[in-house]
Amino acid sequence: MAHGSLADLLRRIDRGGYGQYRRLSGTWELDRIGIEVQRVQADPFAPPSRIRVTVPAEVADLSPELWRGKARATALASYLVRRLAANLRGGAFRVDAGGQEVLARSSSEVADGVVHFRIGIQLPGKGRTIDGVTAHRLLCEQLPQAVRKALDFRYETAREFVETIEDSAALRDKLPELGLVAFVADSALLPRRSGIDDRPLESGGISFRSPESLAAKVELPNRGTVSGMGIPEGVTLIVGGGFHGKSTLLRAIERGIYDHVPGDGRELVVARTDTAKIRAEDGRGVERVDVRPFVGELPTGSDTGDFSTENASGSTSQAASIIEAVEAGAHTLLVDEDTAATNLMIRDARMQALVGKSSEPLTPFVDLVRPLHAEHQVSTIIVMGGSGDYLDIADRVLMLDSYIASEVTEQARAIAATPTGRAVEASTFGPIRHRSPEPGSVDARGKNGRTRIRNRGTDTLLLGESEIDLRALDQIVDPSQVTGIGLAIEKLARSGALTDTIAAALTHYAAELADVPALAAGSTDDFVVPRALDIAAALNRLRTLRIRDLKS
Ligand code: ADP
Ligand code: MG
Repeated sequence: MAHGSLADLLRRIDRGGYGQYRRLSGTWELDRIGIEVQRVQADPFAPPSRIRVTVPAEVADLSPELWRGKARATALASYLVRRLAANLRGGAFRVDAGGQEVLARSSSEVADGVVHFRIGIQLPGKGRTIDGVTAHRLLCEQLPQAVRKALDFRYETAREFVETIEDSAALRDKLPELGLVAFVADSALLPRRSGIDDRPLESGGISFRSPESLAAKVELPNRGTVSGMGIPEGVTLIVGGGFHGKSTLLRAIERGIYDHVPGDGRELVVARTDTAKIRAEDGRGVERVDVRPFVGELPTGSDTGDFSTENASGSTSQAASIIEAVEAGAHTLLVDEDTAATNLMIRDARMQALVGKSSEPLTPFVDLVRPLHAEHQVSTIIVMGGSGDYLDIADRVLMLDSYIASEVTEQARAIAATPTGRAVEASTFGPIRHRSPEPGSVDARGKNGRTRIRNRGTDTLLLGESEIDLRALDQIVDPSQVTGIGLAIEKLARSGALTDTIAAALTHYAAELADVPALAAGSTDDFVVPRALDIAAALNRLRTLRIRDLKS
């Protein structure tokens, strides 16, 4: 504890040089709330200073009902930081509260009834001198009041929030024992307001109803029994005419790896955490991936068992992304024809007749989905309105007609019984080769030797001297996840864990690093604890990544 009070210090340094703000560093107490000034900006135009607020359990006075268990603690932290953000809106404070998803983030933690907030503050200046009067108002009045107000919530509302999240997490946890990869509850509302607004459609939305044949019932800790559509393991096809809601359903499933706030419409739409959305991404780099399941002899003669490129095509990028996802531990793949490479998805009988196998290096996904499931226990959900060849290989076919889902597997079987003359091009997938990065090819340090991790929204991770393009990763939804991925990569690289295989490094991450305290060490930035799969996806898009060893 610093001597004297924060108010006294602010009075003393008022109108002094801006650099005097350095003296705020350290821990203060205001109205029984702890305020640790962790980083002070050097000038008024630098990124905001960082503060960690600690509210002791006696002061926060939270009912243990609200935070007991991991799901509830994360949910309550999210609920509280949303309230704090609402109370500190505009002006000097930066509070990372998040959107429709409830994510474990550094801006707020609840541990044993103690509440921590991490926030940014733009320390006020008049020119290059300290505006101590405003600083006093912000730090000594507005901040503690906002913290008190955030904690002064209606119990019922907070309870609904944490119960919603606990139910959704429990539902996700139950998927494996039910043999399901995803669950979409009856009366869920899937459509969003717009492509850039993730809130639920305000009016005219048709709520979801499960087809009778896929209906499942699940018992949840708070809500009791819920009914909805269970999507079993295996190969699921979503068909239907254009604009009938196929992509909307798939997108809700892809976001089902996250819990959603009450009122979102997708509170009980869940997918297993090891679900990877895959898309074509021409131009991406690929580093030593064994893409032989998809790509045979190339005209360049390059070895597709050890394939690298700085500039992948749509099809090879998608092939590499599939292999990399499985390597990193994905057990469900989601593919939408809207964002897939046609020539990797299908090759019909007529094209087979015209272009012989000897001059077509690609084996289409349609022939690999079943082997992928048989050999690697990887399930697939595919949106495909454009090719009937998938009817041959699907375990079940779901049709969307004006947003209403029905199961049409029987009809699909009957149609598939008439041969098209198409030849099956593969009967096995083959092993996945595991890759070990070259130490030093992953470096979070900039030229000056200092760690540099920053996000440019959800599009780009700036890591050391590199820019990692994340735009093709649809499951990265929050800029703070991008920072979290950077912190995870930096810690894995520094600990030496990245010299092992990528899969082993991810196992190490899950065991040692995947929580707020571990990732926060040495950083004051806002971040979200990222998913292992997204760390791997970012690493695979790092242009400096070099692989030293490939093993089966
Ligand atoms: P598809 O992939 O079949 O072409 P989309 O999923 O892109 O169709 O949906 C087309 C449009 O319909 C989108 O604007 C979407 O927001 C809207 N939509 C999707 N599902 C629903 C629904 N259940 N109720 C109302 N509108 C919906
Ligand atoms: Mg679509």
